[in-house]
Amino acid sequence: MLLEITDLAVEVNGKEILSDIDLYIKEGETHVLLGPNGSGKSTLFMSLLGFPKYDITRGEIIFKGEDITNLTTTERVRKGIGVSFQNPPAIRGVKLNDLLKIEHGESGEELSPEMKDLATKLKLDQRFLERDVNLGFSGGEVKRSEILQLLAQQPDFIMFDEPDSGVDIENVELLAEEINTLLDKDKKPGMRQKSGLLITHLGYILNFVSADTAHVLMDGKIACSGNPTEVLEDIRKEGFKGCVECCKLH
Ligand code: ADP
Ligand code: MG
Ligand code: MG
Repeated sequence: MLLEITDLAVEVNGKEILSDIDLYIKEGETHVLLGPNGSGKSTLFMSLLGFPKYDITRGEIIFKGEDITNLTTTERVRKGIGVSFQNPPAIRGVKLNDLLKIEHGESGEELSPEMKDLATKLKLDQRFLERDVNLGFSGGEVKRSEILQLLAQQPDFIMFDEPDSGVDIENVELLAEEINTLLDKDKKPGMRQKSGLLITHLGYILNFVSADTAHVLMDGKIACSGNPTEVLEDIRKEGFKGCVECCKLH
């Protein structure tokens, strides 16, 4: 098991947002987290990343067999957890170029040709790499630069918080292709893929990214889990509330 979350409860500003969270992700699996706005999806994302204001009051998080519940964000990232934020902050005074070098473990003056090639593939040119991270980037540029950073970092487990939100519908498929590349979905059968947790509000992106299991978060609890196609069908027919009842029938 790559990630084991057991009986997790999280408070923000003294208010309990998540409780009774059990989630187990094996090596090579991608799980999807669905749920209405305000159900606690981003709170779970931030808690797994270890942001201090997300106070874990019960339960534990085990990653690669090691208890990471009390580790800092930096320590978790070093252990192989990568993230793509829904709305990543701008970092004034830090060039994307320099951030990529740190993430890729490079010490040279120039960014490596390998990273430059990846940037070009993502339609981010050399001039773009000289800009401050996310400062004045368009929505699409923000998402592509997040993907490029993850390609530099090569984490074993990647969490995406609503990567499809704010992206034009015709670009969702392109974004999904990039997510598939990051998760090694394009590798030959039998080769181990990376693991992921994909948070999405509406699930349209699931037409293009294959997932193993879907979980529905409602009021800070996992209300049901199941086959992603079946869960999505239930949500489309019955809404989030109804899908919980349907889930029990599968
Ligand atoms: P989702 O990502 O599913 O839309 P969130 O995790 O952002 O949901 O929010 C879950 C709940 O936690 C909401 O009721 C929200 O108002 C509350 N919440 C989120 N962040 C904070 C915060 N910083 N302070 C207080 N409440 C918060
Ligand atoms: Mg939301
Ligand atoms: Mg959210």
